Parts: sequence; structure tokens; C-alpha cells
Amino acid sequence: MLENRIYNFSAGPSMLPEEVLLKAQKDMLNYNGSGMSVMEMSHRSKVYDKIICDAQENLRKVLSIPDNYKVLFLQGGATGMFTAIPLNLARTGSADYIVTGNFSGGAFKEAKKYLKEARCAGTTESENFTRIPNQDELDLNPDADYVHICENNTIFGTKWHTLPETGNVPLVADMSSCILSEPVDVSKYGVIYGGAQKNMAPAGFAVVIIRDDLLGNASDLCPKIWNFTVQADKNSMLNTPPTYPIYICNLVLEWILNDIGGLENMKKRNVEKASLLYDYLESTDFYKSAVQKDSRSIMNVTFRTGDDELDKKFVAESVEHGFTNLKGHRLVGGMRASIYNAMPREGVEALIEFMKEFEKNNK
Ligand SMILES: *Cc1c(COP(=O)(O)O)cnc(C)c1O
Repeated sequence: MLENRIYNFSAGPSMLPEEVLLKAQKDMLNYNGSGMSVMEMSHRSKVYDKIICDAQENLRKVLSIPDNYKVLFLQGGATGMFTAIPLNLARTGSADYIVTGNFSGGAFKEAKKYLKEARCAGTTESENFTRIPNQDELDLNPDADYVHICENNTIFGTKWHTLPETGNVPLVADMSSCILSEPVDVSKYGVIYGGAQKNMAPAGFAVVIIRDDLLGNASDLCPKIWNFTVQADKNSMLNTPPTYPIYICNLVLEWILNDIGGLENMKKRNVEKASLLYDYLESTDFYKSAVQKDSRSIMNVTFRTGDDELDKKFVAESVEHGFTNLKGHRLVGGMRASIYNAMPREGVEALIEFMKEFEKNNK
């Protein structure tokens, strides 16, 4: 890592690969001989058209997206998609939501506004979302328009490691905080979506990957800019897209393809980083992780000392040691280390060294 940068454990916006930042710096004033920055370019220009098409193609390559899926880059972030999903996918007006944390709860609440029937088909709220529900705890409607899950629960630090069986009902997944962290079988989903600012790009857009047969059902109420069918026809350019974040996204995808060598390698790196941290947490009584083992996220690792004052001290001292954003979300308290793709292994190792030191001094 470059000398004057710090290990940033932010849940999002979060670290970007230095290779990407350096490339963007190099391109800043004169992109590819165009005489201008990507920020200053018409989104209708030939130069920009190549950038957005490359981003789409590279995402297809990285995630092995089948041909019968469209890729969209839309404004409004993941929260915008909480609204856009019911407005685009409702046919009968009944959908199932599995509530495993704050964001899936938010998506559920939003769907209730627009659907005849948004059902909670399962939740672990009574256990403060410390695990993902089992299949036999789900009450799924076989005639639902879709089943919605949040695949990685950023705030609580849990992850769906086995997808729910939904039969013929399309599975819709908010992958904001785990997209590009490991390979996924896209064909198991009807829709994958996520905000860009965790693993893909700076803040500014949501990506939507949607199976073709789910297009064409948008409600008349659906805002045109969030109409998936219209945006698929317009290649995400109904209006001005977030041009610069999409450009950075393409650089991140090139980094995954060329520097990392694809998502299998990315996963290997991520599992190694997370295991270092979880193994350490298990080796000590000083820190506790509330998350059930089989539900652990490899992107967001939550832990606490069990003493709120000590947690505060930990966060304050971590800043003095050159780390930032280790404070847990206010809904959970304690600490959270978000270790997305761009967090180097050295960052996790340095954090563990600090944790050991803090334990020694405060036991
Ligand atoms: C961050 C996050 C969101 C919210 O994303 P915005 O782009 O800020 O709307 C939604 N879902 C999950 C899982 C997230 O991690």
C-alpha cells in the first residue's frame, strides 16, 4: 500500500484498489488521447460509449452472466432498487421477502407500499439477525411473483451460504456488499442487484442483472428512469448515466480480470482474509462474535468486547493506530471490519496485531 494511505474498514463507500486509483489518476486530464477527462465527456460520445459497453462486457465476463440476462447501470443506489424491484416485477402483486437485517427490512417496507401483498416469508429478527434462516423455517408462497433476499447483511455480518429453494419463483438478491467477492451462479437468480460503492466503484449507481423473461411487467406507476425494460432498450442511457463511477467500475473489473485473475482467485483471497480474523476471534475470549458460524460474512466481520466503554476505547485507539471506520453500525454496536475486495491481506494482519495488543493492555 502507498505510504500515505490508511487501512479503511468502511462498510461503504469503501477502499478501491490502488491500481485503479493510479490508473484513474493517469487518465484524469486526458483520457486515451481524447483531450479531456471522462468526467467532462458527453455520454453520447463514441469514447464514452466504449467505456460503458466495456464495463458491461467485463461484468458479463467476470460474473459469467448468461446471454439471457441484461445488465443495467441505474441511479438511485440499492435503496432506489428497493422501490424499482416491486414496480418492475409485480405481475399478480404478491411477493415474498425474507428479512435478515436492516436492508432486507427496508426493501420489505418499500415493497409493501406498492404491492397488493408483500409477505414476510421468514426472519431471524427475534435473534437479532445473528443468523440466516434455514429452509424449513421459511413460509414461501409458490405463486409469488418473486422471493427477495439480502445475500450479505452488511450491518450484522451474516451471509446466505446456501440459497433458499424457491422452486419456479424467481429469486431476487440484493448483493450490494458481496457482489464480485466470489463466483456466483447467475442462472439461479431472476434478478441480482446492488449499490456500487462497496465492491464495484465509487457511489453513484446500482447494477441490475435481470433475466429477460422478467422484463416487460413494469407498473404504469414505475418511474421511467427505473423502468428496467426501457433502460434495457436504451443500454442504461435513457438519461445521463453516472459516467465517472461507471468508468471506475470498468477499471475495477479489469483489475479483477487481469491483476487478480478472476473471481475464483478473488474468493480465495477473501476467504483467507476473513479466516485470519475469525480464527483469531475464536482463539480469544476477549472479543466475541455474535454471528452463528454457518452464517458468517466474509466481507463484514462484526465483533465486540462485551463492554461498551471498552468498545469505544478500541475504536478511538484504532484511529490512533492508523485504521479507520471500525465502529459497528448503531443498530449492532461493537466493532465491524469491512474487508471488501480492495482491503489488502496486510490490512487484516495489521488489524489483528492491533487487536492482540489492545487485548493485552485491557484484559
Ligand atoms: C449499502 C447497502 C444498501 C444501501 O445502498 P445505497 O446504494 O446506499 O442505497 C442496501 N443493501 C445492502 C446490502 C447494502 O450493503
